[in-house]
Amino acid sequence: MNGKQARRRRALWREQLEARLAQAQTATPRQVGTVGDSEVWEVGPFLMAIPTLFDDYPAAIKHAISRRRRAALHGHCDCGAERRIVNPHTVAIDHANDCPAGDDQLDALAAQHGLTVRRLT
Ligand SMILES: [Zn+2]
Repeated sequence: MNGKQARRRRALWREQLEARLAQAQTATPRQVGTVGDSEVWEVGPFLMAIPTLFDDYPAAIKHAISRRRRAALHGHCDCGAERRIVNPHTVAIDHANDCPAGDDQLDALAAQHGLTVRRLT
């Protein structure tokens, strides 16, 4: 494969990833199951495992998980983070450092309340 072919292939790959991301952005999320303390949702071409929002969680945990759920299902967070595509099967949201929905922040918040929020992803 020469350089021109490689560039063409990479451009096609990027187009396919962007098309999948666009499908997710316009999809209506649909819950398809549960695994442990997580719910599995279909969002366009992607499956998302997100923490279940339990009624007995402290208010701060509920707020963080609620924000995380909205971000996962709708592609954007109140902190400004947007869904990005990692590969054809994986998306990610890079929350701001002070966003309670971020991995580290949610873990720290849960630890303050003696809880562990298990995530499949
Ligand atoms: Zn966020």
